[in-house]
Amino acid sequence: MSLLVNSAYRSLYGKECPYETTLKYSRAFSGYNANVRYSDRELRFRLSYKWKEISPELKTGLVQNLLNKVFKTNVKSIDIDMYNIFLKKVHITIPKTETDPVLENSFNKVNDRYFYGMIERPNLRWGTDSLSKLGSYEYGTDSITISKIMAEDEMLLDYVMYHEILHKKLKFKDKNGRSYHHTREFRAKEKDFEVHDIEEKLKKFLRRKRARGILGLWKQ
Ligand SMILES: [Zn+2]
Repeated sequence: MSLLVNSAYRSLYGKECPYETTLKYSRAFSGYNANVRYSDRELRFRLSYKWKEISPELKTGLVQNLLNKVFKTNVKSIDIDMYNIFLKKVHITIPKTETDPVLENSFNKVNDRYFYGMIERPNLRWGTDSLSKLGSYEYGTDSITISKIMAEDEMLLDYVMYHEILHKKLKFKDKNGRSYHHTREFRAKEKDFEVHDIEEKLKKFLRRKRARGILGLWKQ
């Protein structure tokens, strides 16, 4: 049983936690990543080792944030607010060890063109060749991950890079226990990308890729 999880549950929902709880530190995570596995009896939290040295209040905020996700609730708490502030600043402490020449070239170009070169380079890595998840920014490891398929088109790669850098720059808004990433401000800034029909080009590129995928299967 984890006292921290039980007390985080109690202060969030105002009742005793009816689940078996565990909280373990794992070296399988990088940065400040964490997750929770759950069933109808159990809540198992796994936190990266870096969380070991972090205050119980912040850990409580992290656990409560995950509880809101598990139970699809939007309960607010001071500890969640603290955790969100922490998450927005933690990039400062993350070592930048991962990079790649193509991604770094794109990052530098976009950074110079749209951000006066003022954005500190995050970790940069290629993801799988996903057609649905083109890119992501992860706060807990300060990393931008880009789908491998974007390596085929420099302009579209720059666009996805621009989108992810905007996430790093604008962070997220938290309202009523929920985090909003694609805010109105975000969408407005996204339109500053200088190729005006870029969304159309991206859609066309993805359509072509999907069609090729189907054809490939057909040939087998
Ligand atoms: Zn996004």
